Amino acid sequence: MKIDILTLFPEMFSALETSIIGRAVKSNKLEINVHDIRKYTLDKHNKCDDTPFGGGAGMVMMAQPIADAIESIDRDHKSHRVFLSPRGRVFSQKVVLEYAKKESLLLLCGHYEGVDQRAIDLYIDEELSIGDYVLTGGEIPAMAVADAVSRYVSGVINQESLMQESFSSSLLEYPQYTRPQEFRGIKVPEVLTSGNHGEIDKWRREKSLEITKKNRPDLLEKKD
Ligand code: SAM
Repeated sequence: MKIDILTLFPEMFSALETSIIGRAVKSNKLEINVHDIRKYTLDKHNKCDDTPFGGGAGMVMMAQPIADAIESIDRDHKSHRVFLSPRGRVFSQKVVLEYAKKESLLLLCGHYEGVDQRAIDLYIDEELSIGDYVLTGGEIPAMAVADAVSRYVSGVINQESLMQESFSSSLLEYPQYTRPQEFRGIKVPEVLTSGNHGEIDKWRREKSLEITKKNRPDLLEKKD
């Protein structure tokens, strides 16, 4: 899987160089390329944004640097091109699985008031939101998408972890414990140290159901 990220703030993506995703990139299981949109501007002062036609607050990212960046990075349109945007389809585990099947993704990060609509109309396949709130830029959403999708790339994490976690079915995950067996007076539930795997599975299913009912009853009603 190859992920190209287009941003005005490439330095923000150093977070993807650490931990599991960083290791997967270093061992070539995954390719993540962060591209600085500013490199593609034809403006002599390196400008990439301007005031909105029709008035209003803030600045709008210009179409030209984005268009030239996409034409250079994904000339033959092999990538699924996504613009991170609060007005997009809402990101979910269903979208993660859909994206994980693609060979490459191109993630465009907006900033300021957003992006000139012509860049979106000409080059983008879909707009994607990470939730009903507004962030200052698309960089954190792009990191969330890259991280969540990368977990499904072969060899990035243990496949068993993917099967039993929240959203892998209609249930959220059960509580997890590790050493020590007692911490500040609270003991690990006895069943988990019993060695009886049938009972452990039963306990975990019950807890998953209890947590899902409490926090996300909507998941139990979902058909897909
Ligand atoms: N004026 C825009 C609006 O009302 O929809 C919001 C612009 S926001 C301040 C700047 C950029 O942050 C957006 O272009 C987008 O790339 C990103 N962004 C903000 N919130 C987001 C969200 N919930 N999901 C995905 N991207 C988001």
